[in-house]
Amino acid sequence: MRRQPLITGTRLSDGRELIYFDDPGSPPRQHMADTRRLTGRAPEGELRYDELSGEWVAVAAHRQSRTHLPPADECPLCPSTPTHASEIPDPDYDVAVFENRFPSLGPGLAELPGSLPWGVAAAAAGRCEVVSFTSDHSGSFADLPYERARTVVEALAHRTAALSSLPGVRQVFPFENRGADIGVTLHHPHGQIYAYPYVTPRASQLGAAARRFYDHADGKATLLGSLLGRERAAGERMVLEGSHFSAFVPFAARWPLEVHLVPHRDAADFTSLTGEEKDELASVYLSLLGAVDALYATPTPYIAAWHQAPLDPLLRPATRFHLQLTSPRRAADKLKYLAGSEAAMGAFITDTTAEQVAERLRAVLGQAGRQPAGPGPAGSRLAGPGPRGNHSGEDEA
Ligand SMILES: [Zn+2]
Repeated sequence: MRRQPLITGTRLSDGRELIYFDDPGSPPRQHMADTRRLTGRAPEGELRYDELSGEWVAVAAHRQSRTHLPPADECPLCPSTPTHASEIPDPDYDVAVFENRFPSLGPGLAELPGSLPWGVAAAAAGRCEVVSFTSDHSGSFADLPYERARTVVEALAHRTAALSSLPGVRQVFPFENRGADIGVTLHHPHGQIYAYPYVTPRASQLGAAARRFYDHADGKATLLGSLLGRERAAGERMVLEGSHFSAFVPFAARWPLEVHLVPHRDAADFTSLTGEEKDELASVYLSLLGAVDALYATPTPYIAAWHQAPLDPLLRPATRFHLQLTSPRRAADKLKYLAGSEAAMGAFITDTTAEQVAERLRAVLGQAGRQPAGPGPAGSRLAGPGPRGNHSGEDEA
């Protein structure tokens, strides 16, 4: 049986929760105290309901003063030193998760009504957490050793379970913004988790389509399961295939670079995955990020969005967990900006085809040394172009 990370929690001086996830076999933690004597929490933001769209908007004016691209010796995610007290009091750590000091949501927790009248705002309930992947200020997720990536996967499962049980939380969204072009404010390799008190617009839209399909299939199949089956049968947009997860560029990809990494069975979120599935997820995710970075001479900016099923019991059984990895990079020195059609209308126009992008990713994955790291899936292989006869187009269990 695989050894689990050691999980221990503490509190920062202003009461925020800090949780260490230590790789199996790491030396015992010191649990140093936070010496900063922070006074109180940042003022809570508010949620306003937009009647025109039926969507919530989080107003977090206090975030204007948050730390912006600090040098390494002032980094809040580096371990504390005798001359710099950071968010992480210990002199070293593996993975650390803590409540964001400048959260868009929270720290209060409350049920949000379905809507609010014009002129009335609610406290921005919910929770925002920061997930630091390593104590090393430089590098990126793709550089992590397999064991560490596996610890991050375990941390995301742990936090999803914990945040899902908080009062009023309706959806838990882990993600990573990578690169200054995406708007990161800290270079230190890290991700975030938002626990929303409402179902986000995108999750509502995807959830409605998923539920329609699920009902039509009499609850026997999910939309994403069906799509994965079709993509695997077609083959031309597949990027890699494992025993439990496969990655493909979706048929109607909207970003210059977009990959979906999807489990082979219906799992709602990180907490639904088995140990074996999490083992493989860490491996194929590292491979995927390595491929994305191998496309150009410089690191590719990306958003890694882990779509988990909302906690709504109607949407949950119909929704399959997946990663949506997107980049606005359309050439070595060019980015796609969301302009009129995309930003105002949500109508995407793309100048690359999904098939071309998949082919480029397969090419870099096929190069030596780009095989999945760590205890990779036995059945893992690079996907090949062209239709294949060994997939029926049905969902695979
Ligand atoms: Zn740092």
